[in-house]
Amino acid sequence: MKAIVIHTAKDLRIEELETEKPGPGEVEIRLAAGGICGSDLHYYNHGGFGTVRLKEPMILGHEVSGHVAALGEGVSDLAIGDLVAVSPSRPCGACDYCLKGLPNHCFHMRFYGSAMPFPHIQGAFRERLVAKASQCVKAEGLSAGEAAMAEPLSVTLHATRRAGEMLGKRVLVTGCGPIGTLSILAARRAGAAEIVAADLSERALGFARAVGADRTVNLSDRDGLVPFSENKGTFDVLYECSGAQPALVAGIQALRPRGVIVQLGLGGDMALPMMAITAKELDLRGSFRFHEEFATAVKLMQGGLIDVKPLITHTLPLGEALKAFEIASDKGQSMKTQIAFA
Ligand SMILES: [Zn+2]
Ligand SMILES: [Zn+2]
Repeated sequence: MKAIVIHTAKDLRIEELETEKPGPGEVEIRLAAGGICGSDLHYYNHGGFGTVRLKEPMILGHEVSGHVAALGEGVSDLAIGDLVAVSPSRPCGACDYCLKGLPNHCFHMRFYGSAMPFPHIQGAFRERLVAKASQCVKAEGLSAGEAAMAEPLSVTLHATRRAGEMLGKRVLVTGCGPIGTLSILAARRAGAAEIVAADLSERALGFARAVGADRTVNLSDRDGLVPFSENKGTFDVLYECSGAQPALVAGIQALRPRGVIVQLGLGGDMALPMMAITAKELDLRGSFRFHEEFATAVKLMQGGLIDVKPLITHTLPLGEALKAFEIASDKGQSMKTQIAFA
């Protein structure tokens, strides 16, 4: 089988690897779709991010779906041919955090395509993937591409739970890439009354409007959020998806007292306007990955309650993986680029 392997920055190869056999409780999946994520792009363009660096070749990818091709012993709830979304979240189930019900904080997390631990955790961009049946959520009724969107959608569902009550809230989303636009969908589904989206790119803001943002603000106008900062602010919740300090600072000014900041963007450490956070009694909450939200993401898409289709802008065959990574790296072209494995 072929797999997409990153060696160092800009050295991406399609390699031939051995196919594994599914063990007890596992299934073999014939991969159908794989979405290229920001973290894959960091490995591709820079060989890592922050202190996380590639130290050995690693298969990329963690946003995947496929068809069940073989069943391991004891698997009864899946059938050959089923389309499944495959969760890349693989907590150990036995450490303190897993036992406390915080599996996304597992000490021994084996999240696909991550160079955080060494040896690196190999990813899922491979024609055949052996996964636990418990990672697979049946995705009948969805396209393979939609099923592969379950992963980034889960990130934003988790963030929405971190934000707390959403019903009737006024929401600001800063940064309108895939996570920002999916946050708009998630916030709306959770009951947000008004959603304003902000970004530097008019094109990104077009996607934000297409998925339901009520208003958009172009942050290349530095004062774009100033009208929302009057009377101690407008918004109850900020989804900060850019990882850029100016967006966070402008967002904080536009939050009302007791507002909640959910930080999703990972752009490195930054200085915070601590005076405003303190005086407005703001809550600053991180949000990282997901676990049980994965099945919810599939269910919401199947029920037609969240439509991710407008965000899938490019689908390229496996043989054009390199081109797919180049397109995905160009925000002027791509929102979500996926690779079709079959
Ligand atoms: Zn991702
Ligand atoms: Zn654990």
